[in-house]
Amino acid sequence: MEKRNELYRGKAKSVFTTDDPDRLILLFRNDTSAFDGKKIEQLERKGMVNNRFNAFIMQKLEEAGVPTQFDRLISDTECLVKKLDMIPVECVVRNFAAGSLVKRLGVEEGMALTPPTFELFLKDDAKGDPFINASHVFAFGWATPEQLARMEELTRKVNEVLNKLFDDAGLLLVDFKLEFGLFHGEIVLGDEFSPDGCRLWDKETRKKMDKDRFRQGLGGVIEAYEEVAQRLGVPLA
Ligand code: ADP
Ligand code: UDP
Repeated sequence: MEKRNELYRGKAKSVFTTDDPDRLILLFRNDTSAFDGKKIEQLERKGMVNNRFNAFIMQKLEEAGVPTQFDRLISDTECLVKKLDMIPVECVVRNFAAGSLVKRLGVEEGMALTPPTFELFLKDDAKGDPFINASHVFAFGWATPEQLARMEELTRKVNEVLNKLFDDAGLLLVDFKLEFGLFHGEIVLGDEFSPDGCRLWDKETRKKMDKDRFRQGLGGVIEAYEEVAQRLGVPLA
């Protein structure tokens, strides 16, 4: 597999073309951003931890029947993935209230949400990733009703699989964000699943073990990510 040109440099990852038109390389950098890129720092080891964490989770999801982009790890900070036509819609499931839901509705952080909520946001940093609904997705042509239904079905399936996985590791999966894309017409899970894009709390103490440590300046960000990885049995370098 030959790595070619940088196609896109995002806030945390860089995307490279390869000699296979159906494959891309995702490079996980140490850059850490919050508040739509307004707060940015380098966190030692984060690229490696997130790359290996993502590989572990994507493989678990694939085994559970969720079609994912993941092909294989190629280095500590890089993996080979299917090249998707990304759908610019972020799918968020919440099992407990936190983050923007608490701000928007004024509910108490940590309130259990039964059944879990499913929300959509437009992936557009310049506009602050606005909250949208299904009718916007159809009216602006970001996805068809069939595609969005499949995205919701897969997001809820991911929630089931990962709730169990994190619960067994003594963690609460509070909420998470997924991105999907099309691969030869099929809806496939893209981007990443790591503590950068979800909220994880210790089941007993409710200690935050995810990117909220960075957002809120709590310190010990990578130490928390590594502890989560260790509890799940993710092999780190
Ligand atoms: P951002 O764009 O939010 O700054 P990243 O730094 O994570 O995010 O950049 C990665 C970019 O690559 C994102 O825009 C994401 O939508 C895109 N991407 C992720 N997986 C794939 C894939 N399999 N095929 C094509 N693009 C992808
Ligand atoms: N999230 C993300 N990228 C985004 C927005 C949200 O990964 O651009 C994740 C976030 O880490 C959390 C979940 O989606 O796990 C819900 O985020 P929320 O809407 O509460 O927004 P936030 O408070 O993170 O801005």
